[in-house]
Amino acid sequence: MMDIPAYRKIVVLGAGESGCGAAVLASVKGYEVFVSDSGRVKDRYRVVLKQYNIPFEELGHSALVFEHTDLIIKSPGISDECEVVAKFRYMQIPVISEIEFASWFTDATLVCITGSNGKTTTTLLIGHMLKSAGLNVSVAGNVGNSFAFQVATTQPDYYVLELSSFQLDGIKCLKPDIAVILNITPDHLDRYRFSFQRYAESKFRIAENMSPADSLVYCIDDHTIRKLISSHQPKAALYPFSINGFDFNDGAGLVNNEIIIQTNNTRIHMTLEELALQGKHNVYNSMAAGVAAKLLQIRKETIKQCLSDFQNIAHRLEFVANVHGVTYINDSKATNVNSAWYAIESMERPVVWIAGGVDKGNDYEMLKSLVKKKVKAIVCLGNENARLYEAFGNLVPVMVDAHSAEEAVYAASSLATNNDVVLLSPACASFDLFENYEDRGNQFKDAVKRL
Ligand code: ADP
Repeated sequence: MMDIPAYRKIVVLGAGESGCGAAVLASVKGYEVFVSDSGRVKDRYRVVLKQYNIPFEELGHSALVFEHTDLIIKSPGISDECEVVAKFRYMQIPVISEIEFASWFTDATLVCITGSNGKTTTTLLIGHMLKSAGLNVSVAGNVGNSFAFQVATTQPDYYVLELSSFQLDGIKCLKPDIAVILNITPDHLDRYRFSFQRYAESKFRIAENMSPADSLVYCIDDHTIRKLISSHQPKAALYPFSINGFDFNDGAGLVNNEIIIQTNNTRIHMTLEELALQGKHNVYNSMAAGVAAKLLQIRKETIKQCLSDFQNIAHRLEFVANVHGVTYINDSKATNVNSAWYAIESMERPVVWIAGGVDKGNDYEMLKSLVKKKVKAIVCLGNENARLYEAFGNLVPVMVDAHSAEEAVYAASSLATNNDVVLLSPACASFDLFENYEDRGNQFKDAVKRL
């Protein structure tokens, strides 16, 4: 465990999953802690804060936050540009993220996964492998409980952590034993002053403290990651993975129809058909997870078994039903252009595509030729659909509007004929018409079941 800096008074900004977890950990470790949220604190976090006797305020930051300040732990949802954060920086009070704080208090092996898409899937897949191997493991971060809450309440030997760029923005010493970078494609640019470079640099911070004894597993097919590797020269041992062959020593590759995973001169072979997760994107996720597990000396048989029996969680290319010869697929978690690209790419039948929502400054260019080839109709499910019409109006013969999941499913079902696929893969966030992507996916599934 590292030498812990001598802070006494901690303010946690934000009382969601990670803020609340950080506050609990700070309290358990004997710090004086105060939590401040600019919005309303959800009931379940209110209960936790009360349980640990942690003082908090909501609906705004009062002067109190400035009285409790040796160190600020900022929740990932809060932008660096926000007024109160800027003020702390001006006062030269350190601002860190919850994952950084949590890392101070554990000696467990850290397997950390980042990327623009596929983080949750890959994190859960690695977790599945380590659990199946009988290891004492906790899966945390952006998925499930926060890292800090887990550190406060459990003592696993391994953490598998899903890390977003917002969490990585606030690290200082966090050092993964194994890091996985899946891909870096545009997302959340509104938080990075619309600079893709800034966003990419932020993801790459996952490797900044790694040493030669650590392992960096990365997608060598991703041009942005390759550039970052050559400009930053990370110290960790490198394990590339690629779907364009296997011409490196250790890592993973796809040759003909077979994935090869190699570390320490031993290999695992698996055919694509044997993988539980289908689609090109999931070949990447499976290879990355396989390399990480192999680096942890998990037995070949366990890795192969897990790659072939893993069940992903909902809303990621989730099969919903077959109704009158039409297949309905829920990919509501596709909240950016790149994830929608992989969804459409993996469809083998004509697609009625349900897309739209809150456009985060999307560039639809990369989707155009694929949409032209595979999509027969688009149902626009958003308050504001002009950008979709602008991008695809000339490429797709039919485009219609819908203002609820029910309307969208009804419209799609009347446009689809026998053997078509209706795919909800919005390429946009959901907050205009839904609470979140889960709500969007659930409403879609309910509507399909009512057909
Ligand atoms: P994240 O946690 O990074 O958002 P998820 O595993 O929840 O990733 O998947 C989000 C969306 O991205 C889903 O629509 C999924 O089908 C798609 N996806 C998963 N893995 C990849 C990948 N490697 N590349 C592109 N898209 C992916």
